Amino acid sequence: MTRLYDSRKRILVTGGAGFVGSHLIDRLLEQGHDVLCVDNLFTGSKRNIEHLHNHSRFELMRHDVTFPLYVEVDEIYNLACPASPVHYQHDPVATTKTSVHGAINMLGLAKRLKCKILQASTSEVYGDPSVHPQPEEYWGNVNPIGPRSCYDEGKRCAETLFFDYHRQHGLEIKVARIFNTFGPRMHHADGRVVSNFIVQALEGDPITIYGDGSQTRAFCYVDDLVEGLVRLMETDSGVTGPINLGNPGEFTMLQLAQEVISLTGSKSELIYTALPEDDPRQRQPDIAKARSLLAWEPTVSLRDGLRRTIEHFQSRLSELQF
Ligand code: NAD
Ligand code: UDP
Ligand code: UDP
Repeated sequence: MTRLYDSRKRILVTGGAGFVGSHLIDRLLEQGHDVLCVDNLFTGSKRNIEHLHNHSRFELMRHDVTFPLYVEVDEIYNLACPASPVHYQHDPVATTKTSVHGAINMLGLAKRLKCKILQASTSEVYGDPSVHPQPEEYWGNVNPIGPRSCYDEGKRCAETLFFDYHRQHGLEIKVARIFNTFGPRMHHADGRVVSNFIVQALEGDPITIYGDGSQTRAFCYVDDLVEGLVRLMETDSGVTGPINLGNPGEFTMLQLAQEVISLTGSKSELIYTALPEDDPRQRQPDIAKARSLLAWEPTVSLRDGLRRTIEHFQSRLSELQF
């Protein structure tokens, strides 16, 4: 492509109307790039990108990545995929198709354009891990036939495709394994733990602890994640990943609930319900590779991130009441 400025790129973000994608797009536009957002609005929403409506360097294309896509771009971030267990289990066949057919189409596009492509993979490739914390070398412990498999195995197969296109066709790939991420623009009803707890606390509803609440997760604030994704895309061609991107601070779900209650001043009580099948017991990223290859580590603490996210939900919930 002929470009006016060498540093200004035309960048495709699939899943750009979602939670992470919309923040990534904000960052790429701030850097002066042109952004094409491709999204079928399955879990994402125009609301997440409505502030970009009249932006001259932004374009939204409503399209499902399981179908071929012929556009001209310089770089691809492939984020299209429902990420919350409630959403990805709603139509599990569509979830696997999105990961697998979506990856094939986006890799085919990158191959034709000879452009760099980054895959938003996930800590779910480690399943219910028997190695703790999880380094990239760990191959994982995933049930291939359970309710979470459509997401976990779909993402694992997408990683396989990325590495086969790299080896077989010389494609420049970047694979990020993203751990639980939170922040403004998470959907208030998507069922993930951070949004559930905050909405329940703000509404004075009982906080739903699945199981006994001793299972752990490590929560990364979305701005930190976006910084990691952009740095990974900018590495030289020798760096393919997979690279863990997440915040190593590990918390039990009970600790998270207590933190949310204390920050919101809520009077909500805790209630205990059944632990979902195959729910991982523990999860914490080993980010040594991200530290050394990207000079990256998270800067926002769980508490500060929760404060910003609570503010967002307060204004969203007050809008919903009218
Ligand atoms: P999200 O559900 O908010 O965003 C996903 C976006 O993809 C939505 O806008 C949705 O409409 C779109 N989409 C879904 N299927 C599509 C299809 N077939 N064609 C086109 N668009 C489609 O989720 P998110 O939290 O923003 O996650 C973004 C990416 O990051 C996902 O690939 C997810 O697997 C990955 N990830 C997220 C987390 C996290 O904690 N948020 C953790 C690990 C990995
Ligand atoms: N593809 C696409 N856009 C392109 C090029 C390819 O969507 O610009 C899709 C196309 O549908 C194809 C897939 O990507 O099925 C894989 O492409 P590849 O070239 O690897 O395979 P082939 O076309 O040989 O099946
Ligand atoms: N969880 C919970 N209450 C909720 C929602 C989730 O206790 O209302 C638990 C869930 O069982 C899991 C953890 O919180 O152990 C994280 O769940 P989430 O769906 O956010 O992400 P994932 O399981 O994909 O890491």
